[in-house]
Parts: sequence; C-alpha cells; structure tokens
Amino acid sequence: MFTIGCHLSIAKGFAAAARDAASIGANTFQFFTRNPRGGKAKELSAKDLADFAVVRAEAGIERILAHAPYTLNPSSSKPDTREFALQALADDLARMEQIMPAQLYNMHPGAHVGQGPDAGIGLIADALNEVLEPSQTTTLLLETMAGKGSEVGRTFQEIAAIIERVNLDDHVGVCLDTCHIWDGGYDIVGNLEDVLEEFDRVVGLERLRAVHLNDSKNPCGAHKDRHEKLGLGHIGFEALAAAINHPALRDLPFYLETPHEDLSGYADEIARLKASRN
Ligand code: FE
Ligand code: FE
Ligand code: ZN
Repeated sequence: MFTIGCHLSIAKGFAAAARDAASIGANTFQFFTRNPRGGKAKELSAKDLADFAVVRAEAGIERILAHAPYTLNPSSSKPDTREFALQALADDLARMEQIMPAQLYNMHPGAHVGQGPDAGIGLIADALNEVLEPSQTTTLLLETMAGKGSEVGRTFQEIAAIIERVNLDDHVGVCLDTCHIWDGGYDIVGNLEDVLEEFDRVVGLERLRAVHLNDSKNPCGAHKDRHEKLGLGHIGFEALAAAINHPALRDLPFYLETPHEDLSGYADEIARLKASRN
C-alpha cells in the first residue's frame, strides 16, 4: 500500500484534518501538536476524537504523524529551555495515547548552541530517557536535519549516537527528510542506493519509520533547509519518485512538507506521486 499525505492544520480539530486529508487523496497526515513556536497545546475534545475515529475508518487512515514544535530544544544550554522541552515532550506523548495510540511522533533532535555536538547528543538522550515510558505505544522519531546553525542530527552518525544512549530504544525510530539529508550532503539524486546503505550501516533501516518528501531550494550539502515544491528544486521529481518506489522505503508513510498556499497544491503532488508508483 502507498501511504501518502502531507502536513495539515488541526486548528479545526482532528476530524476536520482527516476530512482534509481524504479530500486531497491522502491516507495519512502530519500535524503540529501545538503552535510550532511552542506554548500550550489546545485542549482535546472527546467529541472531536470520536468523530476523528469515524472519519479515519471511512478514509482508510491508519497512520498519523505528530510533529513537535520547532522551538523545542532539549539540548539547549539554558535550563529553562530544556525544562520546557521535557514538559512539552511528556505532555505531547501523553496526548498521543488519547489522540490515536500506536502512532508516530516526530521531533527535531535539537540545537547544541555552541556546546558542541557531543554535549548536544548527551542532553537529547537524557531528555528522551526522562520522557519515554515503557507503557507508551507511540514511537518517537528523530528527524534527520539539514545541519543549519548548530542543529544536532545532521549526520546519520549523530542520530545513531542519540539512539545508542536511549534506554527504551525500542520506542525510538527515525524520520528521513529528503530535503534535509540532501542539504546535509547526502546525494540522493546521484546515489540513493549508497545513501540508504550508509543509513542501514550506521542507524539500521529497521529504525526508519517515516519519510518527509520535499524538494530543496538549495544544492546538495548547502546546510540550508529550505523546502521546495516537488520537481521545482535541486532534487527534482525523478529522484523523489525513485525514493517512493525504493524497496527500502516504499512501505513507509510519506509526508509532503512542500510550500503550498492551499490544499490543491498537495492534491496535485499526491496525484503525481500516485501516478509514479510502480
Ligand atoms: Fe521537521
Ligand atoms: Fe521535515
Ligand atoms: Zn525542513
């Protein structure tokens, strides 16, 4: 089965987001758990969650991916920023059990803000060791990053180093962002096979649980993180179509995070991707 969707707003609730997904031909979607710049999450509504279950069944949505706010930085040098990260992570993970159990929760690992990647890796692992609980059914995903600023997770080695330090590592996976790894220097256009082999060697393909499917406004290795619509950037449609068909990736859920003004842009991309599945 091809599991394909995009990032959607849950401002009108989860049921409305699932209807939006169905309206553009998607069978999954990603959403921010709270304002991407942080703050308090909206109260969950029992009515909305009940509606959500009905719409999901109708639309064949069996997978959802939550995304933590961008400002969440468990590897900050500031204790209160780390404390906010811990609280938001714990709260988000608890809410996921209510929203839909056994789903995926993606986070940007963090930024070490001058402390160095090793210190950052240690702090991120410490945070995960605080918030992960054996009873949780959600899998927490670490997103591969483009390496702008002091982002941690810019190489497969950094992602692996975090996971190695997590005690409940069976609750941890990876979300591969095509724009980010391209910007990070992994040539998925010329050499997807070698990139995935390296991922397998360093992290393990069994850790890979989701893919963010984006084109990039910048060349390979630019460390910029500017997403582009599929086919209009430096990665190009052909390489992205190869990614959705690759045996190591094809059964994973794919999420568009491409810059569109409205849902029709995603509908077009989803239709083109479906036509490119073999
Ligand atoms: Fe992200
Ligand atoms: Fe992403
Ligand atoms: Zn990005």
